Amino acid sequence: MKRVGVIGGGQLAWMMGGAAKKLGVELIIQTPSNQDPAVSIAQDNVLAAVDDAQATKLLAAKSDVITFENEFVNLEALSLLAKQGICFRPRLEALSPLLDKYHQRCYLRDLGLPVPQFFAVEPKENLTSKIADLGFPLVLKSRRHGYDGQGTFIIHDLETLQQKLAMNQTIPTASQSLFLVEEFVPFERELAVIAARSVEGEVVIYPVVETQQEQQVCRRVIAPADITPHQAAETEAIAHTLLNSLQAVGVFGIELFLTPAGKVLVNEIAPRTHNSGHFSLDACETSQFEQHLRAVCGLPLGNPQLQCATAVMINLLGYENSHSDYQDKRQKLAQIPQAHVHWYNKSQSRPGRKLGHVTVLLENHNPALAAEIAHSVESIWY
Ligand code: ADP
Repeated sequence: MKRVGVIGGGQLAWMMGGAAKKLGVELIIQTPSNQDPAVSIAQDNVLAAVDDAQATKLLAAKSDVITFENEFVNLEALSLLAKQGICFRPRLEALSPLLDKYHQRCYLRDLGLPVPQFFAVEPKENLTSKIADLGFPLVLKSRRHGYDGQGTFIIHDLETLQQKLAMNQTIPTASQSLFLVEEFVPFERELAVIAARSVEGEVVIYPVVETQQEQQVCRRVIAPADITPHQAAETEAIAHTLLNSLQAVGVFGIELFLTPAGKVLVNEIAPRTHNSGHFSLDACETSQFEQHLRAVCGLPLGNPQLQCATAVMINLLGYENSHSDYQDKRQKLAQIPQAHVHWYNKSQSRPGRKLGHVTVLLENHNPALAAEIAHSVESIWY
């Protein structure tokens, strides 16, 4: 497999560029705008929305295999293409239980994996008795198309919950369940793990990391997470069970909660490379992006081990509307010892938009130093 068609042209596809070159793989990107980050590293592009299956047919004509950097696709339409023999990796059946957060929760629960308590909100349903079990605060989530905390609301009282639901039930098409309610987990920390599965069924797992979110958006990642060997083993076992059950091919990102009692619960699965794995570009022999291409091309998987004691990854989020390329700040960040700055070349900055990231490698395991470095990166940036 030498030509990989990628649905989605954001930074996740852009970061496959280096690995593609190394492996001698051509990337062809389906993305709506020729301003999108990955357009510049692709051999060819199909300029169309990610859910445009007709465009994916064109993409398939130029590719040996198709993969995803964005899962907001039209699975029903793509499955007609799969029936015509077009090869998707991961296969569409591995995506279908994951695209709706309620279906995803059910899938994980049915596999016996630990998840927060949850239920789907039926239109016009009286929720009083169901929420009595969970209590407040609780978490209301849009079942589809949520990312970076869009569509996730922490709700403190019944009135706010009813208001949020009523706003959406006035939409004439909202005849089916659009929301999921789940228990608020008063987590001690949030964890994540990247796992990859090959065509032959080999699974490799990256070190479990700690992720730090603010306003539900990932701000920092620390690799490895400061957890017990038992918690790490539990997390790895979850990753194994999940990828094998899905018969996944490629990289998957798994987000988890560590509860105050030390239990691990699964929050969310992304059927693609993930922000929590960006550290691997600079800190591992095989990055998550190379690993993904290896898996979808049918190559043997690479080594996911950390090559340093600790890596700290800090997202550079937009904080204003601007067309600036922030050269000065990027230069300052690059002067931090052992810092690697990745800039996604987006044409426009908006508050909260992921514009780039910095990874700093440490020779020792030193959580206080990691926190200090994150703080100095953020004080240069914001
Ligand atoms: P998205 O798909 O938009 O990233 P997530 O479900 O991952 O949404 O939620 C984003 C963040 O919101 C999480 O990283 C976590 O900080 C918080 N969150 C989500 N679900 C819960 C929950 N059940 N309890 C506590 N916090 C939660």
